[in-house]
Amino acid sequence: MTETTDPDCLFCKIVAGEIPSQQIDENDDTFVFMDINPATRGHALVIPKRHTQDLTTIDPADLAACAQMAQQIAKRAKSQLHADGVNLLNCCGEVAWQTVFHFHIHVIPRYVDDSVRL
Ligand code: 5GP
Ligand code: ZN
Repeated sequence: MTETTDPDCLFCKIVAGEIPSQQIDENDDTFVFMDINPATRGHALVIPKRHTQDLTTIDPADLAACAQMAQQIAKRAKSQLHADGVNLLNCCGEVAWQTVFHFHIHVIPRYVDDSVRL
């Protein structure tokens, strides 16, 4: 793996601990932290530790690692937060609502009465 971090990237700074976050998990390839503006209780972001812009640029192995981690976080949302369901969301490109250009998967626990519209 060559390029790993972008010094100007917000999420790279979070992985490096230069910007504080509420971390909830990590492994060799991925990092998980709470969204600063949660759509629901437990809204988390799963990101690759290696910087990459979006769904079209991510290394397939990192994508698989993120998907596997997202599954773990979704399971935990159900067992620990008693979520009734979960949405996974990825935004690729500005027109698709992407605002931070370091690939991430939103893990959004859903509750019967949360009345959230994504
Ligand atoms: P996007 O719109 O790119 O799919 O999602 C970016 C997400 O990052 C948003 O949900 C936003 O609330 C979250 N976010 C932006 N800045 C920060 C930050 O400094 N810390 C954390 N924890 N989340 C952030
Ligand atoms: Zn980055």
